Amino acid sequence: MRENITIVGAREHNLKDVSLEIPKNKITVFTGVSGSGKSSIVFDTVAVEAQRQLYGTFSWFIRNQLPKYERPHADAISGLTTPVIVDQKPVSGNARSTVGTMTDIMPMIRGLFSRESGLPVNLFSFNDPKGMCPECDGIGRSVQPILEMMVDREKSLNEGAILLPGYKVGSAAWQVYAKHEPIDPDKPVKDYSPEEEHAFLHGSGKVSVGGMFNMTYEGLLDNFVRTKLKRETSDKTREQIKPFITEGVCTLCHGARLSPEALAPRVNGRNIADYAAMQITDLIEELAGLGNPLADGARVALERVAGIGLGYLSLDRATATLSGGEGQRLKLVKHLGSTLIGVTYIFDEPSTGLHPRDVGRLNTLLAALRDQGNTVLVVEHDPDVIAVADHVVDVGPGAGAHGGTIVFEGTVEELRRADTRTGAGLRATGTLKTEVRTPDGKLPIEGADLHNLKNVSVSVPTGVLTAVTGVAGSGKSSLIADVFMTTYPESVFVDQSAIGASTRSTPSTYIGVMDTIRSLFAKANGVAPGLFSFNSDGACEGCQGKGVIITEVAYMDPVTTHCDTCDGRRFKESVLAHELRGKSIADVLEMAAEEAVEFFTEKAVRPKLQGLIDVGLDYLSLGQSLSSLSGGERQRIKLATQLQRTGGVYVLDEPTTGLHMSDVGTLLALMNRLVDQGNTVVVIEHNLDVIMHADWIIDLGPDGGKDGGEIVFEGTPAELLGFAGSLTGEALRRTVG
Ligand code: ADP
Ligand code: ADP
Ligand code: ZN
Ligand code: ZN
Repeated sequence: MRENITIVGAREHNLKDVSLEIPKNKITVFTGVSGSGKSSIVFDTVAVEAQRQLYGTFSWFIRNQLPKYERPHADAISGLTTPVIVDQKPVSGNARSTVGTMTDIMPMIRGLFSRESGLPVNLFSFNDPKGMCPECDGIGRSVQPILEMMVDREKSLNEGAILLPGYKVGSAAWQVYAKHEPIDPDKPVKDYSPEEEHAFLHGSGKVSVGGMFNMTYEGLLDNFVRTKLKRETSDKTREQIKPFITEGVCTLCHGARLSPEALAPRVNGRNIADYAAMQITDLIEELAGLGNPLADGARVALERVAGIGLGYLSLDRATATLSGGEGQRLKLVKHLGSTLIGVTYIFDEPSTGLHPRDVGRLNTLLAALRDQGNTVLVVEHDPDVIAVADHVVDVGPGAGAHGGTIVFEGTVEELRRADTRTGAGLRATGTLKTEVRTPDGKLPIEGADLHNLKNVSVSVPTGVLTAVTGVAGSGKSSLIADVFMTTYPESVFVDQSAIGASTRSTPSTYIGVMDTIRSLFAKANGVAPGLFSFNSDGACEGCQGKGVIITEVAYMDPVTTHCDTCDGRRFKESVLAHELRGKSIADVLEMAAEEAVEFFTEKAVRPKLQGLIDVGLDYLSLGQSLSSLSGGERQRIKLATQLQRTGGVYVLDEPTTGLHMSDVGTLLALMNRLVDQGNTVVVIEHNLDVIMHADWIIDLGPDGGKDGGEIVFEGTPAELLGFAGSLTGEALRRTVG
C-alpha cells in the first residue's frame, strides 16, 4: 500500500499550485488563518476527488443514477482511500431521527425489551406502524390549528373573514363557503348561530359552486386539518401555514412517540420510553445493574457517547435540536463503533462547542480511529487539538489571495518553533484582563428553569463584555439563546445558523450594496440597472445566473457542477461588455472585500464593505455563494450588517468558531469597539483568550445535563482564576502564563 496521499498542483479557489504529501494511517491537522485555503485542500480537493474515484468503482448502472463529481482543479491526486466526511452539517432535520436512532443504540434497547417481554421487536419502534403512537404517528408532537388566526370573527365572508391563503373573496375556495346554503355570507362570523358555525367549520355534504358544478363540501377547519396537517405537504405549504398552527407535545403518548401497547412492557420497573428519556450517564448505570449481556452491548456503545462529553444527552433527543458540534461528535462516535479500516476520515473543526475540559477526550477518539488503521485529516484552530497531530500542514500566510500556499509541514514540536502565524499563536501565552469596565446597569433573569436550568436567577451587566461559560450541556444556550432572548427580545442574536437565502445570495446582496452597484453600472453605460441582476434577462441562460449548475439528489447533498455557458461568470457576454471604471460586473463580483473597498468610494457602498473588513472577512469575494460560507463566516457576515447600532444588546454564540488564534484578537477588538460605542455584548464561548478578556464572566455548571444548570461563578476573569469550584477556572489556570 502507498504510504502517502499525494497532491500535485492543486488550484481550487485560492490555492496556488499546491503540492503536498499527506501521510496515511496518521493524524494530519490542517491549520492556518480563516480563508487561507484549508477547506479548499481538505474538502474541495481531497474529499471531492476521493468521492469521485469511489463512484468510479460502482457499476455503470448505479453510476448512471448518481451525479457526476467534477475533477478538482489539480494536476494529479493519488493514494486516496474511501472518504468519510464528519462535518457540522445538521445531522438530520427529519422529525423521526433521534440520538438513539442515529447512533444505532436504540435498536439494542429494543432488542433488550423484546427479549425480556417476549413481544416482537418492531413493537418498540416508533418508525413501525405497530409501535408508533396512533395520535401523532410517532412524532411525539402534534399540531393544532389556531382558529382565531384562520378566521376574523368580526367580518363576514363577503368582507374577507377567511384569513387563510388562497381564500380571497371571489376565489373558488372562498365560494365553497360563501355559497354554501346554511351560511349567510353577509353576517359577521361572530354572529353565526350554532348551526351556521358547525356548517362553516365542520359541515359535510354537497355544494354547488357558482351554480356550475357540484362538489363535496367539507367544513373549513376539517378541511384544513385533513389537507394541511394530516398529509405530507411541501416545504412551501408548511411555511405558509405556520401562522395558523401551534405545535405541542402529543396528548396521547406525551412525547414518548409509542403506542400504548409498546409502552406497557417494563424492564426493571421502567418502560422503553423511560429508558430513552434517561440521561445517558444514568442509563449506563441502569444497564450495568441489569447484568444482561444484551444490556452490556448497549452500555458499551453508550459509554463511547459519554466518553466524548455527550453523556448529558438522552436517546430520545431529536437530532434536529442538536448543535453542529454535538452532531459532529455523535457522528464520530458512530464511526468508532464501525469495523471499517483503511478509511480517510475528514473532520471540520471537531472542537466546536467543546469545553477545554473535554478536548482531551476528543483527542483520544481521533487517536483511536487512527489506531484502527485509518487516515485522519482534521481542520482545526484549537491548540489543544493541534497537539494530537502526527503531522501538521500550515496553510497561509494570509487569507484569500494572500493565502493558498503551504507555509509549514512537520511535527507539532517543529511548528511551535516555526515562523508562521500558527507557530506564533502556539508560542503566545495568555494575559488576563485586569482593568475591567464598570457596568452601567443590569438585565435580570428570574427563576429560569428551561431544560436543565435549576431555578436560575442571574443578571447580565450592561455596557460591558460578558462571557457565558461552562462545559457542553451545562445550560449556556438554554439560559442565553432561549431564556435571555425571550426575556429581552429586542437583543440581536448572532449565531451560525444558515442564512435563509437562495443560491443566488452573495456577500454583496447580503450586506445590501448590490442595488447601488447595479445603478452605478447602469448610469455609466446608459442601460437599465436590472440588466446587472442575477435574476434578470442579463443572467446567463445556462445556469440562470447561479454560475454553477446544481443537481438535487435524493438522500445526498446536492451536487454542484461548473456552468460551461458563462464559465462561472453568471452573466451574458453582452452584459459583461458594459464596464464601470474598467471592470465588468463579473470582475466586481470576483473582487475580495478588501479590493472592493478601494474600488468603490461611493458613500452608499464603502461603509458597508468596511463592515466586512472589520469582522475579518476582508478575503471574501463579493459574488461568492453564501452557501459556501462556513458557520463562523456566516456568523461574522451577520455581525457585519449589525455594526452601526448603538445602545443595543448583542448576543454572540461561539463567535471564535473557524477563527485562527491570530484572528481572535481582531474579533476581540471588534467586540470591545461595540461595547465602547455604548452596546452590551454577551458571548457564549469556550475560547480561553476571549474569556480572559471579558469584563464579566457567568460560569454555568458544575457539569453537563442534570449535573449542570446552576450558576457556578459570577465575577471578573481575575476572580475566576482564584476560584476553586469551576472547570472553566481550572482550564484558565492551565493557560495563563
Ligand atoms: P479556510 O478553510 O482556510 O478558512 P477556504 O479554503 O474556505 O479557507 O477558503 C480559501 C479561499 O477560497 C477564500 O478566499 C474563500 O473566500 C475562497 N472560497 C472558498 N469557497 C469558495 C467558493 N465556493 N467559491 C469561491 N471562492 C471560495
Ligand atoms: P450548553 O449550551 O451549555 O451546551 P444547553 O443549554 O444546550 O447547554 O443544554 C443544557 C441541557 O438542556 C442539556 O442537558 C441538553 O441536553 C438540554 N437541552 C438543550 N436543548 C434541548 C432541546 N431542544 N430539547 C431537549 N433538551 C435540550
Ligand atoms: Zn403521540
Ligand atoms: Zn452560466
